[in-house]
Amino acid sequence: MASNAPSRVLGIDLGTTNSCCAAIIDGEVRVFRSSEGENVTPSVVTFFRDAPPLAGRAARRMATAAPLDTVFSVKRFMGRKATDPAVARDAGLVPFRVEAAPNGDAWVRAAGRSYSPPEVSALVLAKVRRDAEAYLGEPLREAVVTVPAYFSDAQRQATKDAGRIAGLEVLRILNEPTAAALACGLDPKKGQRVVVYDLGGGTFDVTVLESRGGIFEVRSTNGDTHLGGDDFDQAVIRILVEAFKERHGIDLAADPMALQRLKEAAEAAKIELSSSPVADIALPFIVAGPAGPLHLEHRLTREAFNAATARLVHATLGPCITALADAGVVRERVDALVLVGGMTRVPEVRRAVEAFFGRPAVPDVNPDEAVAVGAAIQGGILRGQVRDRLLLDVTPLSLGVRVSGGLFSRLIEKNSTIPCRKKAVYTTANDNQSAVRISVYQGENALAADNIFLGDFELVDIPAASKGSPKIEVSFDIDANGILKVRAVDKASGRAQQMRISPNSGLKEEELRALSASAKREGAAALRHDEAEQFLLTCRKLVEACQSEVAGADVDRSAVTQWLKGVAERLPGESLEALRGSLKELNQCVLRLRVARRA
Ligand code: AMP
Repeated sequence: MASNAPSRVLGIDLGTTNSCCAAIIDGEVRVFRSSEGENVTPSVVTFFRDAPPLAGRAARRMATAAPLDTVFSVKRFMGRKATDPAVARDAGLVPFRVEAAPNGDAWVRAAGRSYSPPEVSALVLAKVRRDAEAYLGEPLREAVVTVPAYFSDAQRQATKDAGRIAGLEVLRILNEPTAAALACGLDPKKGQRVVVYDLGGGTFDVTVLESRGGIFEVRSTNGDTHLGGDDFDQAVIRILVEAFKERHGIDLAADPMALQRLKEAAEAAKIELSSSPVADIALPFIVAGPAGPLHLEHRLTREAFNAATARLVHATLGPCITALADAGVVRERVDALVLVGGMTRVPEVRRAVEAFFGRPAVPDVNPDEAVAVGAAIQGGILRGQVRDRLLLDVTPLSLGVRVSGGLFSRLIEKNSTIPCRKKAVYTTANDNQSAVRISVYQGENALAADNIFLGDFELVDIPAASKGSPKIEVSFDIDANGILKVRAVDKASGRAQQMRISPNSGLKEEELRALSASAKREGAAALRHDEAEQFLLTCRKLVEACQSEVAGADVDRSAVTQWLKGVAERLPGESLEALRGSLKELNQCVLRLRVARRA
């Protein structure tokens, strides 16, 4: 598979909970041990006022002593705005403070200072890199870093920034399930449909891939950027808090120190339940009661754990259905099921997923290491050490621009293979219009405002011309990392303007999920902007044509004109449902006008 080459590329799985690092050494993929001797490094950093920060296992140990200064799950805040409702939700799950930076991004506060999420992640990456360098005794500068398939452009950018801050050149940002597929030993030359189910500490991804002639091609991706092991831990914490409240009348959730100990105990119990039917949780001196210190003791059975988390396990199956539908693959035709992410060690998760797909998972996949191994293989592909695989990837949501009437014009369809480039020609809406604003959105809804705004720019100095005559060519370019460049050029004057989607564009992941889900519902019936515009135009023309002929009681001309005007004005702000209603009414109006004209 591989041959020696001078420069080594690190494959890094930068996880919500843990990170893992691998590289090709002597032709084989090796997973590095941390300086603490573990195959994973906790993605945790503790900050101090008067000492350098600690990252990894040591920081994880500090979480109890310094809960407010120990940052974990920072991946949940990467590339996100503080105003994002999901940030507020996630901030409620961590003891440290999450606040708005001057640019509106979500930053974290620890030891009296604010830190951007890429800065925090960079400390984890730097630790992972140091440990790998110490093991190999050589400097390492290049890396392939993985992200959840659902990560938006801003989140990918933020991940790249983290690498740069850690002194790494990030050669490629790779989707985690794609990396897992590369790693799990499936023969890419054998035609197979592969489902990668990845349930990690904070995110869930499901990807449908097809392998053919040495190529792994991503057919569809779906998932939930807010579902993972942390939620299972929270379910256990709730059981413990409730039981304690019932017994002692004290709410442990109000005490950050107790909460941190509860979190650790909950996770440990969850892990224990993967191999044992019961877990005994004992937290002495958890809180001081009126009559002295109180202890928490609880026996958690696997049944109670399964019952409390059944909802979460079930929540992963919806995205599986969507991903299969998007890929046009029926469950029975899946050839291989790959389970990755630490949470797939939970027996009930494994059972439910295998039952859903009606087949056992591919054996011997190490769920903690597979993604890093795949990233190392991708590094090998980029450096020519691995020659028998080529990897194609897709963009998870459609990309397009806002056009007149507030509608969304798609340039790149969801699940298009990347890198890719698409062009479309637009024009002006007014006579002598000298500038056009190119507003870029991501999503599946017919109205731009219902999608996610990525950024905008103006193309100015368009020579005077009557409306509809200038030809403005807009091109979208997505590179191999899923990062978008948009360019607009006025064909007549050659004036051009372009933009790289900025990392501060504030994408909302829970919107992303909702968009993907609503797009599925809307399916083929989704209203196309050009249809709507065309329809309105037809109606207006009909009204004009009828104006001299239509009179009297049959059709109230001015009322119809007025009504059409109202619809046109409302159009940009209308929901898709309302728009459909308006179109139905318009249809009836056209019929009435036609009848009136014939009469
Ligand atoms: P990852 O993000 O893939 O590193 O997954 C981390 C998540 O997997 C965390 O929520 C861990 O608590 C969980 N996890 C790791 N090992 C186990 C295990 N043996 N049983 C249950 N959960 C586990």
